[in-house]
Amino acid sequence: MTQLRSTPATAQDRRLVQTAVKGPTADSQDAVFLPFEHDAALEFRQEHSGVDFWCGTVNGCGRQLFTRIGDEKIPHFFHRGENEEQCRRAQRNRGRLDLEAPIVWAELKPWRQGRDLPEGQVDFFDPIDRHDARYMHISGPVGTRDTRIVLGDVTIIQVQQDAASAQGREWDWFVHERNTEVREILDRQGIAYARIKFVPTAISATLQVFLSTPDNVGDWGRISRYVPAPNRAPRPPKPAPPMTADSRPATARASVAQRTAASGPARERGNPFARMGPPSQLAPLRGLDGGPTREPAFAPGPPRPRASEPTGRYTFAVRVPAPRSEEQIANEFKDAIAHLKEALVLEDRKTVARCARRLRALRKAHRESLSSDDNRAIKTLLRQASTS
Ligand SMILES: [Zn+2]
Repeated sequence: MTQLRSTPATAQDRRLVQTAVKGPTADSQDAVFLPFEHDAALEFRQEHSGVDFWCGTVNGCGRQLFTRIGDEKIPHFFHRGENEEQCRRAQRNRGRLDLEAPIVWAELKPWRQGRDLPEGQVDFFDPIDRHDARYMHISGPVGTRDTRIVLGDVTIIQVQQDAASAQGREWDWFVHERNTEVREILDRQGIAYARIKFVPTAISATLQVFLSTPDNVGDWGRISRYVPAPNRAPRPPKPAPPMTADSRPATARASVAQRTAASGPARERGNPFARMGPPSQLAPLRGLDGGPTREPAFAPGPPRPRASEPTGRYTFAVRVPAPRSEEQIANEFKDAIAHLKEALVLEDRKTVARCARRLRALRKAHRESLSSDDNRAIKTLLRQASTS
């Protein structure tokens, strides 16, 4: 029999849960990563004898996990005696990336309290089909400040809309440094945000935030030291489309000419959400390698043209009939359908209700762009959601 010990091929088995939280209860945010390598995993187990592991309550099912260190598969955590189909993490684990949600919650709870905000409730969103498009939202009682954390480097429409919305101005934002999409929207909106990254350690990771200094140098540090800057006014659109080189510095947002040229009836360009990047960005960007490193070198890539309009009014694009490309609408449908299907599989009633609302609104707004087959399929799905 082939020995599959810590080879790259086995590392691609997506069904294996590679992270857990450790401690007396599933509410722990002490997130750990079980080494892929057999001997290192055995050492990990030895060092954690008598320690309980849990799937975690931030992004997991909250049940207890146990280590399995054999010769057939890479070392992993498993849910004992239960069907792993019931756990979304077991269904679609993201390797080391699964550490991030509990780590963020562990760090942001005291940070919020330090700013006299209630601890709040955390929700973790992990859209299917978007490998790295995960985000979290911490909300407290009405009237208190929310916190939005964008973990992945791929942006889903919901997050873009939130970043451009009036309510988004009222939140504290934490955005992964590689998520240039959301960062550019926030920059354009004048919304202050923290750039974050995760630095892997042997069996976990630490969250770091970029702390800018008055001399504009700045450095990465602990989140406890982060104080949000006040928001600025949204950047106004340019009055006329200058077709020659303008006086702006040649930054990643240099293509103002292209952006402001969209002021007419141009179908896509006037809409800040018309593009989410080339199609390749919508597809899963990286394989679910779950490999031992998670911080690839950051390559900003070439500047991309962006839509530019005063975006504050796009609170919910489904309510505002801004023109969108067929492809964009199709992607939104795909996204909303996938969300709802997943929520149905997981029997997560709260999420089912939320996803059904979104899909229903989308269908209402763009019924004309649906084929009758698609329309029927969506109706069936919504009916299923309403009876679940
Ligand atoms: Zn689980």
